[in-house]
Amino acid sequence: MRDEPRSEALLEWYDRHARVLPWRVGPADHRAGIRPDPYRVWLSEIMLQQTTVAAVKDYFARFTTRWPTVEALAEAEDGAVMGEWAGLGYYARARNLLKCARVVAEDFEGRFPDTVEALQKLPGIGPYTAGAIAAIAFDRPAVVVDGNVERVMARLFDIHTPLPAAKPELTERAASLTPQTRPGDHAQAVMDLGATICTPRNPACGICPWRDACLGRINGMAAELPKKTPRKPKPIRQGTVYIARRIDGAFLLERRPDKGLLGGMLGWPGSDWTEGDVPDHSPPIRAEWKTLPAEARHTFTHFHLRLRVRTALVPLDRTPRLGEFLDKDAFRPSDLPTVMRKAFDLMNGA
Ligand code: SF4
Repeated sequence: MRDEPRSEALLEWYDRHARVLPWRVGPADHRAGIRPDPYRVWLSEIMLQQTTVAAVKDYFARFTTRWPTVEALAEAEDGAVMGEWAGLGYYARARNLLKCARVVAEDFEGRFPDTVEALQKLPGIGPYTAGAIAAIAFDRPAVVVDGNVERVMARLFDIHTPLPAAKPELTERAASLTPQTRPGDHAQAVMDLGATICTPRNPACGICPWRDACLGRINGMAAELPKKTPRKPKPIRQGTVYIARRIDGAFLLERRPDKGLLGGMLGWPGSDWTEGDVPDHSPPIRAEWKTLPAEARHTFTHFHLRLRVRTALVPLDRTPRLGEFLDKDAFRPSDLPTVMRKAFDLMNGA
């Protein structure tokens, strides 16, 4: 006979196998009364949107070393935060991060509000993130459903409706399991189960604390769930970037407008990115431009991009039509978003 999935069984497993994460207070410390720092929980949750734990760890360490409190982050310069964020993608998150830090510092005396409703009113915090912060930082019984949790729920209850249509049903199931005691640890335990045991391929059902309760396993369906509606192929867009280097080593860069893709980030001046032929575009400065034989390629959420990269060496006295020269010592390639970094690496033959 099938057992009911119980939070207690999961929490017992979590007490022994919780992942050690730099923003987490582990279950033993939590029971000893140590509370997570809401600033670190919030920062990690914003960074983890659309990204993996492995990709986030170094960024998290750099941010919390440079800006150890929300007040410190609120006082940071926009360009410094965008530079540290470069490479993590989804740059609207970084702009909202700064806005949110400033609201919390100025309107809430540096203390994050502790309910889902109040958290959701802050810039860049949607329903998922508000639930995660409320549960993890403040032990509120909020329902937290990320991709890992969706997978676990679809399997546990053998739900065959494809994603994204299945989301409300999966959320309801996750809510039905959320306990009043230790809700923060429960939320993190389901996530850990999805990340380490109930993995997308080859779930390790034999060592799972919910194996006797799992309908997907019992019905032999686990590895095929969750079902997903097939995605449309992404279109290909094309464009050109211009990398101008002055003979003193300075590079010609422009800060992109705040709104839109890569908003607020530094980048090489260039054309729009469009489907079809590479759009015509005038270079940002008069020079003898050479086109590199290879293109920089990058995939965004909704399209693939192929960038033609043109390079030139320019004399000291020439004035650009677009952008500004950044001195050799002030230029850090790591401040560039990944697609611009790829163009730069291509020029350097990397
Ligand atoms: S028994 Fe298997 S499929 Fe079911 S929740 Fe555990 S790991 Fe996932």
